Amino acid sequence: MVTLAGASLRTQSVRDRGEALALDADRVVVARDEIDMHALPQDRREGESIVVVGVLADEIDAPGCVGSGHGYILTVPPTTGRAALERAEQLPRDQLDSLRREWWEKRTYVYVTPGDELVKRALAGFPDDVRALAGRCRILRPEARSGGGYYSDRNEIELAAGVETYEGLHQVELSACHELFHYVCWNDRRYRADEDQNFPYLRRAVRESRKLLPAFPRYRDWVTGSFLRQGDHANPVEYFADIPTNFRDVAELPGPIRAHFAPLIAGSPLPYDLSRSPDWPVVPAEVTLETFQRWLAGRE
Ligand SMILES: [Zn+2]
Repeated sequence: MVTLAGASLRTQSVRDRGEALALDADRVVVARDEIDMHALPQDRREGESIVVVGVLADEIDAPGCVGSGHGYILTVPPTTGRAALERAEQLPRDQLDSLRREWWEKRTYVYVTPGDELVKRALAGFPDDVRALAGRCRILRPEARSGGGYYSDRNEIELAAGVETYEGLHQVELSACHELFHYVCWNDRRYRADEDQNFPYLRRAVRESRKLLPAFPRYRDWVTGSFLRQGDHANPVEYFADIPTNFRDVAELPGPIRAHFAPLIAGSPLPYDLSRSPDWPVVPAEVTLETFQRWLAGRE
């Protein structure tokens, strides 16, 4: 038994890969290296950068992220695990942090949200057609503390089964939402056409919004204070996934960006056909990450 935020939970020891008991609880919980051709081998744990990590999980440092390996998985009924984590998250920040450090020393986490349930939770409130499309995406929950990503070659998402425990119950839904909009960008015929052309319509929306930032303070603060701080990660692909994740009210977005994303957030029609070639000159020098970031920052 382990006591977690006042709840007594029965632990199940994972003695080796062949006995990863979460596999019994949910067939989409898998050891990362069993499914991910890009994953690092289990014996290279320290000092490696981890595989694709959703933007929301990027702040986690690399050592120790790759997998819990020989730890415990608490396979408790989802309601019990969720209630325990909810109680833990009500603690003052420093107490929660030290609790998480203790849990990590024991490689303990609670597995509370199977992938199919996580898809539903992450897409709550989005338009029906978006939920219908993105709802087809499978989310695997690898046995790891953190990390994840959308893999276009498999057309599915991985999100570490430890995210609820170590990053929080809300964070796991935000991370899943972000990854699901990578899936949408790849699988929605309209937006995929823009990506296949290297995002001319998205870039134009960003360019046309660059003088409008002062009127949209929450967007401005997010883009300059958070999004652009990620360096090379602040690219059109990540921006696409972050906008619906971070802005559920399109009124908070500058007009051209609002128009581009409103079909995904508010269910309104797209004002232009993304499959058409741009009818404005696309200068190669403007199709760079540097220009994209400069426009995002509101500069010429
Ligand atoms: Zn991403």
